[in-house]
Amino acid sequence: MRVGNGMLGFVGMSESVVKERSEPMIPAVVIAKKRDRGSLSSEEIDFMISGYAKGEIPDYQMAAMAMAIYIQGMDSREIADLTDAMIRSGNRLKRVSDRPRVDKHSTGGLGDKTSLILAPLLACCDLDVPMISGRGLGITGGTLDKLEAIPGFRCNLTEEESEHQLRRLGCFITGTTEGLVPADKKLYALRDVTGTVPSIALITSSIMSKKIAETLDALVLDVKCGSGAFLGTDEQAEALAASLISNGERAGVKTVALITDMDQPLGEMVGNALEVKESIDVLEGRGPKPVRDLTIELGARLVHTLDRTLSLGDARLRLSQVLDSGQARERFEAMVSSQGGEIGKPLRVGKNRPFLSPSHGKLLSIDGQKMGQAVIAMGGGRKIAGEAIDPSVGMRLRKRLGEEVGEGEELLQLHCDDDTKAEQAMALVSEAIRVGEGEWDGRALWRTYGS
Ligand code: URA
Repeated sequence: MRVGNGMLGFVGMSESVVKERSEPMIPAVVIAKKRDRGSLSSEEIDFMISGYAKGEIPDYQMAAMAMAIYIQGMDSREIADLTDAMIRSGNRLKRVSDRPRVDKHSTGGLGDKTSLILAPLLACCDLDVPMISGRGLGITGGTLDKLEAIPGFRCNLTEEESEHQLRRLGCFITGTTEGLVPADKKLYALRDVTGTVPSIALITSSIMSKKIAETLDALVLDVKCGSGAFLGTDEQAEALAASLISNGERAGVKTVALITDMDQPLGEMVGNALEVKESIDVLEGRGPKPVRDLTIELGARLVHTLDRTLSLGDARLRLSQVLDSGQARERFEAMVSSQGGEIGKPLRVGKNRPFLSPSHGKLLSIDGQKMGQAVIAMGGGRKIAGEAIDPSVGMRLRKRLGEEVGEGEELLQLHCDDDTKAEQAMALVSEAIRVGEGEWDGRALWRTYGS
């Protein structure tokens, strides 16, 4: 299966001949081969990825490679080779206990904060959750950026620190390190600023390299679909789910996927500090129902996949009970303080600026791309690689799609101290929101993909 955007190569490009192993490979030749729709060999893929991880291939050549892959796509063999080459750029994590090792990963969306709740929740169910996460990518937020809104929180645990914490607490959330999929760390940051995020090949290899390197028994994938996701249509989300599942299964990881709604942000809060607050609300038995429900569903799918004698309904019940008992809240605190975070301190959020509905009607649509751009405009995401972000900015949605709103009624609140940035964000939000008469035909919060 070839998964790509199906665009044609540029006119007039020469046939590329890539040298075999015995002769030195040339990055420009490998890039041109993919540009011209060639299928890259395992060696060519390994050459590009290991060279990039070691600093022998510069950013500008890797950016061209990523764009060639984005435009021309890759077949499933190339994606598997790309994933394995990324894994080989570092080490795999070791098991530290007899507990099954599980994780969840999302393809990225707005307000997507389930990892913060799910990691401690699963750890309370006698599972090891070695969660390697990423930073914001494109318009979507990243788990590491959210956690770094907590003063002192460290996302750069060493392998020894991660193992120690996993043994003690059953979970950690950290970034890729020098030792762990370093190729993804670099490539992820490069894609973020070169318009090469929404590629099935690049998303699959990025996610699955980290997950396979975690030495997992089971993985649940949250494949976002809608205007705030990288892949907007059902067909694209299904193709991505299929690519992720087959990539996990071939590596011996039991892999399940849900396709989940991203036509509107998950929950009310978007923005790093705000999302940490909302996650804590859910851990404390409050917070928006969609965040709680989706977190429990993702966890239940994992638990059920590991133990088929436990029905999905029983798995949901068990997770709900653990959440309601407050154990997951305690485990979250223990994880945060073990990673240097000061949990007791209130998180600072920017000045509150209400956005009022321009007319009376139903909230008919929210353009997630523009909403994400609004958060970036306030400083909550990156415009260039490595840029510092402001954890205090974000937005709180007061209405959900399909709800009635009166003219002049508050639709959402922006949080931002800087007047100029807030003005730019307001302009983007007013382009993003459509209120009017008509039916809203929304998607379900999730649907299962595959078995
Ligand atoms: N999450 C990742 O880790 N990588 C991607 O490419 C997209 C989402």
